[in-house]
Parts: sequence; structure tokens; C-alpha cells
Amino acid sequence: MNKTVAVIEGDDAAPEAMRPVVALLDSLQLGLSWVRPQVGETAEAATGSTFPDAARALIDAADTTLFGSTSGKSGAALGYLRWGKETYANVRPCRYLRGCASPLARPDGIDFVIVRENLEDLYVGAEGPLEDLAPLGLVGRSVRRPIHELGSGRYAIKAITREGTERVVRFAFRLAAARTGRDGAGEPKVTCATKHNMLRDTDGLFLQVAREVAEDHPDIAFESFIVDDFACRMIREPERFDVVVMPNQYGDILSDAAGGLLGSLGLAASGCFGEDYAYFEPAHGTAPDIAGRNIINPTATILSATMMLDYLGLDEAARRIEAGLARVYDDGTALTPDQGGSSSTTEFMHALARVL
Ligand code: ATP
Repeated sequence: MNKTVAVIEGDDAAPEAMRPVVALLDSLQLGLSWVRPQVGETAEAATGSTFPDAARALIDAADTTLFGSTSGKSGAALGYLRWGKETYANVRPCRYLRGCASPLARPDGIDFVIVRENLEDLYVGAEGPLEDLAPLGLVGRSVRRPIHELGSGRYAIKAITREGTERVVRFAFRLAAARTGRDGAGEPKVTCATKHNMLRDTDGLFLQVAREVAEDHPDIAFESFIVDDFACRMIREPERFDVVVMPNQYGDILSDAAGGLLGSLGLAASGCFGEDYAYFEPAHGTAPDIAGRNIINPTATILSATMMLDYLGLDEAARRIEAGLARVYDDGTALTPDQGGSSSTTEFMHALARVL
């Protein structure tokens, strides 16, 4: 099987994780070929554009994209992968690996996935001065005054559509059904987290649609929590969750918090799925404070790559790498500083290559 992956190494410390991960996948001879679209500052220097047509063509022609975290000028490429390709479901797993530096006393059994709606909500990018709202005469339900009379300030639009919600909730239910096949899987369950008590129209619609979709899946348990209550439960009893579906902003914030349950953002993988394209990227940022030191934890990049292998139908290789990773953490002698170890990224990758 020959699959083409567009790889964008990212900025700051991200390439220090991405390069050895690509080398590891190459060494496993999985039939992957790599293309390297130039985006961001390097593309701008060479072509005058941060997202040249040639880069877009490589992404379009590839089976998928593996994206290292970027800062600054790679926004256009990321926007294309997200809104251009309509990758509406951002999947962020949180699974405890024995040996990782979880701050919890009993982290065993943490194995849930946050499915974050990826295109709507407050991230549609419609903001502006409050006074622009004057012609609408909007009165806030809570403040009971015309919004534009609150003072000089800005607004942001939170947009939740029935279609956008339904497709991401259906995705969450499909994922819950698929996860029943994995080792140690419990009963499938989908949990919905919204602030529907305050945001009755928007989050209220999200919850209503989730409940409707749940009715089509009597074989999968369904529950819902107000998002602040969910945040508390996620810390106190994370092992009771399976698949959690949320509007965009809550999913963004709480999936980083879920990374904290495992002790570091360095373990937080992610994949963004649409109807006919998906791309994969670690959930963390570019870790600029540790750039150039060869100590970035490559685990999030590795686990994003194993999600990519699953997407490409290379699930055997994905399971093999995950099992190898589990052995590296269990052994504990080659961990990076964010996990309490003193090994470099290179040493961590060598340890993984050895067990593979
Ligand atoms: P962004 O705004 O892009 O999310 P940020 O600087 O706010 O960027 P991160 O880049 O995720 O956030 O970094 C937050 C902290 O976590 C930093 O101290 C960084 O070094 C650390 N960190 C993030 N990813 C890793 C990793 N893979 N390995 C080790 N430390 C990491």
C-alpha cells in the first residue's frame, strides 16, 4: 500500500519532535511517502505568500497531512486544513500510560476521548465593536439592556448550527461504537458537556441535537453535564468517561486540561476529521521556551502519527507503536524532563526504536 503524507514540521521546538517521528515511521517501511509543503515564514521568504498554491496542491493530492505545531505565519495553512477541508471533528484522546507523570493518585483506567466540534461556536471569527450592534437593538437576556448600551467594548458571535452539531455528535457515537473493540474497553458511552443553562439558544441547541442523535443509538449510553460540572468530574473521576462531545471552545480548553491529567501537554495527540480529509497534529503549541534543546516530548507527535496510521488503514503498525510506547513509559529510564526524566528527545526515540 502506498500512501502519501504531507508533512509540515512546524515552528520552534516542533520540528525536533516531528523529524525523528517521520524517521521512525520511515524505518518501519509502511509504504508511506512524504511530501513537504512549504508554508509560513519559509514559504513567504521564497514565494511572497505564507500559503502558496503549490503547498495547497501538495496537501490536496496527499492522503493526509501531519502537522507539527506552528506559530505565527502558518495560520493560513492551518485554516485551510480546518475550514477549507471542513475537518469538523477534532479528536483528542486522553489515555494513561503507566509510568507517565500524572499528578493524580490513581490515574489507572483513564482512557477517554474528547471530540471537539472544530468549525463553529465562538471560533467562527466574527467579532467587532459593540456599537455596531446598535441597529439590531439586541437586548441581553441576563443584562436586560440593549447590548450596545453596555459601554465601549467588543462582541464575539457564538454560532451553533443544527447541521454542524449533528455531524459531530454522530461522529462521536460512531467513535464510541468503534472503541468497544479495543483492549480493556468498557460499555460504550457518549457524554455531552454544554452550558445550556446560561446559553439556552446555542448550547441548548447543541444538547437538544445530541439527545436526538442519542435516540438513534439505544446501544450506546448517553449522559450530559453542564460543562463546569463536567470539568470537575473530569479531574475527580476521569476513568468514568469514554467519548465526550463538546462545542468548540469548551473542547479546546478541556482537552488541554485533560493533557494535564497525564502530566504534560507532551502526551496530548489530536486528529481533525472531515468527510473526505483528515489531518493530525499534536494538541500542544510550539513549546518556544524549550526550542533548540532537544528535550521536547515527542509522545504527542507519535500518538498523532498513530491516529494517522489508523486513518490510513495501517492499524497493525499503529498498535505496534503504541505498545512500544507503553513499554518505554513502563520502563521509565528514557523519559523527557516534562515527565520527570532526564533524557533527550533523541534518547527517548532511540528507546522506542529499540523496543520496536
Ligand atoms: P500555543 O499558544 O501555540 O498553544 P503556548 O506556548 O501557549 O503555545 P505550548 O507551546 O503548548 O503553549 O507550551 C506550554 C508549555 O508546555 C510550555 O512550557 C512548553 O514547553 C510545554 N510543552 C508543550 N508541549 C510540550 C512537549 N511536547 N514536551 C515538553 N513540553 C511541552
